[in-house]
Amino acid sequence: MKSMKDVKPVQLGLNSRFKFKCYPGISCFTECCGRIDIALTPYDIIRIKKRLGITSAEFLERYTRREIDEKSGLPLVFLRMPPENNHKCLFVTPDGCTIYTDRPCACRYYPIGQATLQREEGLGGTEEFYFLIKEPYCKGHEEATEWTVASWRVDQEPDLYDEMNREWKAMMLRRDSDARQAIDEKKQKMFFLASYDLDNFRRFVLESRFLDIFEVAPDTVQAITDDDIALMNFSFKYLKYLLVIEESLKLKEKVEPVQPAA
Ligand code: SF4
Ligand code: SF4
Repeated sequence: MKSMKDVKPVQLGLNSRFKFKCYPGISCFTECCGRIDIALTPYDIIRIKKRLGITSAEFLERYTRREIDEKSGLPLVFLRMPPENNHKCLFVTPDGCTIYTDRPCACRYYPIGQATLQREEGLGGTEEFYFLIKEPYCKGHEEATEWTVASWRVDQEPDLYDEMNREWKAMMLRRDSDARQAIDEKKQKMFFLASYDLDNFRRFVLESRFLDIFEVAPDTVQAITDDDIALMNFSFKYLKYLLVIEESLKLKEKVEPVQPAA
């Protein structure tokens, strides 16, 4: 069982070296795809739901479980690994991952773990670092192929995921370090909707009174109607507003009632 809690991380940089090779036929093949917490990001969900041709709500219902993060008070979503599937990921078969080219960012990095730290006050921004996950059952560490963290990243292609997830992860960190503002159930629901259930978030923006309340430029409305990535980026703005991190959305100016002529 792979649990970050059991692993003592040694911080690695991009030039740190490690030996590893994973391939079909290795004796432990797919053992790492069970009994593990794989937290999903908004971009992970966009990729997988598109791959499966289903809505975000269908994906969340069938393939994920939810938890409220103790530190931040925000909802997290994990890949479901139910007992009836032997605690295995629902996407794994004896031949490997069935969504391999759209697998989540955490699966891409494995056996490298990635963490993001909020820089000390005054330095601003966030800092990413890496660590090696060495499970006793994983035979890949006995192979001779040598990597640096940088060359592993080139091979596994997490760059686009990192870029897409950066703003959202920074928001999560910001919450971790600022527990002053309570997250009530309503905010948790809205956070879930805007982070993970993007198809319903789109309906919320376009079909509720949202556009009567907030100023949203017509080209942004068009973009979020047509494009999941534009919608995700807009959802980050909404989340910053919701979590009172930034005045990222503007309320429409109150229209004064027209005075009747004297
Ligand atoms: S070598 Fe490690 S990462 Fe590859 S299948 Fe085996 S357990 Fe999983
Ligand atoms: S998504 Fe694919 S790589 Fe990730 S745990 Fe599931 S089967 Fe394994």
